[in-house]
Amino acid sequence: MESPVRSSVIIVGAGISGISAAKVLAEKGVDDIVILEASDRIGGRIRKDEFGGVSVELGAGWIAGVGGKEPNPVWELARNSGLRTCFSDYSNARYNIYDPSGKIFPSGLAADSYKKAVDSAIRKLSNQEANHDSELSEAPSTPKTPIELAIDFILHDFEMAEVEPISTYVDFGEREFLVADERGYDYLLYKMAETFLFTSSDGKIMDNRLKLNKVVRELQHSRDGISLTTEDGCVYEANYVILSVSIGVLQSDLISFRPPLPRWKMDAIEKCDVMVYTKIFLKFPYKFWPCGPEKEFFIYAHERRGYYTFWQHMENAYPGSNILVVTLTNGESKRVEAQSDHETLKEAMEVLRNMFGPDIPDATDILVPRWWNNRFQRGSYSNYPIYFNHQIFDNIKAPVGRIFFTGEHTSERFNGYVHGGYLAGIDTGKALLEEMMEVVTRKNESQAFLLEPLLALTGSLTLTQTDAVSGLHKCEIPRQLFLSSNKLGLPEAIL
Ligand SMILES: Cc1cc2nc3c(=O)[nH]c(=O)nc-3n(C[C@H](O)[C@H](O)[C@H](O)COP(=O)(O)OP(=O)(O)OC[C@H]3O[C@@H](n4cnc5c(N)ncnc54)[C@H](O)[C@@H]3O)c2cc1C
Repeated sequence: MESPVRSSVIIVGAGISGISAAKVLAEKGVDDIVILEASDRIGGRIRKDEFGGVSVELGAGWIAGVGGKEPNPVWELARNSGLRTCFSDYSNARYNIYDPSGKIFPSGLAADSYKKAVDSAIRKLSNQEANHDSELSEAPSTPKTPIELAIDFILHDFEMAEVEPISTYVDFGEREFLVADERGYDYLLYKMAETFLFTSSDGKIMDNRLKLNKVVRELQHSRDGISLTTEDGCVYEANYVILSVSIGVLQSDLISFRPPLPRWKMDAIEKCDVMVYTKIFLKFPYKFWPCGPEKEFFIYAHERRGYYTFWQHMENAYPGSNILVVTLTNGESKRVEAQSDHETLKEAMEVLRNMFGPDIPDATDILVPRWWNNRFQRGSYSNYPIYFNHQIFDNIKAPVGRIFFTGEHTSERFNGYVHGGYLAGIDTGKALLEEMMEVVTRKNESQAFLLEPLLALTGSLTLTQTDAVSGLHKCEIPRQLFLSSNKLGLPEAIL
């Protein structure tokens, strides 16, 4: 069992936000950090797996928001790391909609239904805008037929950009690129980590400050510091903590806070919805689906909304891989997570046979990620209502004493995205640095204030504040101040 060690900062979680926050701190000289990660790897919701002979992304797969007026920082990281990506355009999916008898809906009908759905969504949004908390307001027309339900699903669970300007597309552009690299999307995190964590030449992080398989179960906090207890009974102490766990984890009872988090914080956490988004991978002996231009995505229209609706083939990413991906969300995701993969395979095959006929081959393998049942995730990403009270967002992000919060859910403009997590980590790292600098300044000022009468008593001249501060590191007591200030990169001249 490890004995308590007091660090400047503990970062809980080694997803993209935790790693980017740690990097900001390390770059400013705060290097006595510890990163506690519950799982056996870094990356969090950026996670690859070997499937059907290639590397597939179970979590984030796309770099969303490319080609706009500002560069997407994650796109920049990808380019600098030489990550292989391929352009993805699912706007054509609406012209590849199959009915349960395998017929493709005529493109005119699909376009009409699509336009109707967009108009209806726009009207619903304007209603909500007029009355911000009218979440109960009815959609002007509710989708009923399989094609309407399918379009409603792709519009709301995938696109939405057609209806509501999404900050990601506005700021960074509307193009999306699928990561198709054997090294995985998480390669970006390893590249980031190697700038401040000791990493071997084959890319393995060897640094003792990163502690894997450390599930934080209790967080004690006071004005004096933080104490964290992990599931294996280890205790870690620090001046501050950055908590990068997902909103789903914050809503769960995985971590007990002592004392409990204040009511305003808990209320805000409870109010943020969690989206569950599941990509199911199916491997086939050969391909039987159309693969030409604009055929990467196709839709299955069923009377149940979201029932194996959204399909993608992986021929563009990995030619010859013979892999299909079907995406489920929310209720369907939870339903499928609760059943055996065998059952899921049966359902998916039935849908595929409806679309492509009875003679298609059985899938030889299936992979069903379980983001909802993963206690270190409890969902895929935060889902703020389009019109929500900004106070909720501010409260989710706000520190509580020495606890700082980060993660995609704390990014006001880009929540739900990888770049949201990345930028949130940078913001939180900077906010904590500011806090640490303020503390140092306050301490220096109060030391100066205390020393002034002391020095006067011993017959010295009256000191100005600057004189007092500059004299401090000559005596023993403020040595610590000097050290901690220096870690923050403050110029020595002001110490
Ligand atoms: C299926 C899926 C598809 C997605 N698709 C895309 C996409 O295409 N494009 C895109 O931009 N974004 C996508 N996202 C969202 C994106 O992955 C996330 O926004 C981003 O990765 C979140 O990073 P984070 O650092 O905030 O959180 P996380 O990556 O969740 O990091 C938090 C870390 O905390 C750890 N942790 C949790 N509890 C504890 C504990 N008690 N003690 C210690 N450690 C703990 C977790 O193990 C995890 O590693 C997708 C997500 C999912 C799940």
